[in-house]
Amino acid sequence: MSGNVLVTGAGGFIGHHLVNFLKSQGYWVRGVDIKLPEYEQSAADEFELLDLRRWANCLQAVRGIHEVYNLAANMGGIGFIETHKAEIVHDSTLISIHMLEAARLNDVGRYLYTSSACIYPGYKQKTTDVAPLKEEDAYPADAEDGYGWEKLYTERACRHYNEDYGLNTHVVRFHNIFGPKGSYDGGREKSPAAICRKIALANQEDTIEVWGDGKQTRSYCYIDDCVEGIYRLMQSPHHDPLNLGQDRLISINELVDMVAQIAGKDIQKRYDLTKPQGVRGRNSDNTRLRDVLRWEPQISLEEGMERTYRWIYDQLAMAGRIHTAEVVAKVA
Ligand code: NAD
Repeated sequence: MSGNVLVTGAGGFIGHHLVNFLKSQGYWVRGVDIKLPEYEQSAADEFELLDLRRWANCLQAVRGIHEVYNLAANMGGIGFIETHKAEIVHDSTLISIHMLEAARLNDVGRYLYTSSACIYPGYKQKTTDVAPLKEEDAYPADAEDGYGWEKLYTERACRHYNEDYGLNTHVVRFHNIFGPKGSYDGGREKSPAAICRKIALANQEDTIEVWGDGKQTRSYCYIDDCVEGIYRLMQSPHHDPLNLGQDRLISINELVDMVAQIAGKDIQKRYDLTKPQGVRGRNSDNTRLRDVLRWEPQISLEEGMERTYRWIYDQLAMAGRIHTAEVVAKVA
């Protein structure tokens, strides 16, 4: 493959993996972020530290670029997005709209925007045995407050840039992407990584804290499938938003039990009902994904969680935190 590709958010979880994938496909890649990847060096040919809330920096990022994967966003797990709405909306709106306009002015050939299952309406996600969400379920809109509304607004901006200017936009809606080399501590981590961390730090028979009653349901998609799906969508002629996730629904309680089994530990749960737990249930309808991409995610949840748990365990061990397990598990 040839062509100069830009990945924004290349210092983050998905962006870092996407850079590796695009390098393996033979692209010249520029990575841009406000921070370097945390866990290993970027494979990008060029990595620029730029704040993409600033218009001039977006112009700098897209110079000489043929394809843009715009992943940069201010985001985190449910605890973060429910308590930082103004900051998220401010930062991500600026990044999203400046990047689109910079791509248009630079005659970029293909543009991909990473949206989220958080754009789906709350009224469709009120039960644990929820019907899988189809792309057209997005309207009438009632998105996740803050983070979800910014994503939905930018989805529409992509459509307008496609219709009015002919910019070749693609929009993907991720459903809970997880895997190694992502945040697992500090407040921005998502549930799979948080569960792995708590169980890695726990001793046999310890109790870990679960947010909510643990009956809330989700589907989870492993990172390798995510980057392959993004790439396939970028090559397709499909412009409307497309789900990218697994369609296997699982409760948080079941996920905890799965990780405990991987860890070989007997783990009890203590429920904290004061903590945010997001929607009651959420699953991806993959009918259109299969149709458009002639493909769907391949890696099982067990396999993905096993790889993720091992990586987080090793990180904690290297940081010297595993032997303090008893103390940490009690305050987690
Ligand atoms: P991440 O937080 O690891 O990556 C986002 C990156 O954007 C970070 O490295 C951050 O530093 C960077 N960024 C933030 N503000 C910036 C700025 N002003 N200038 C330049 N860079 C900036 O998150 P991720 O999980 O890799 O998510 C990537 C994209 O996918 C995001 O747009 C996110 O909203 C979307 N998404 C992710 C998931 C998921 O499950 N991980 C689900 C739905 C949507």
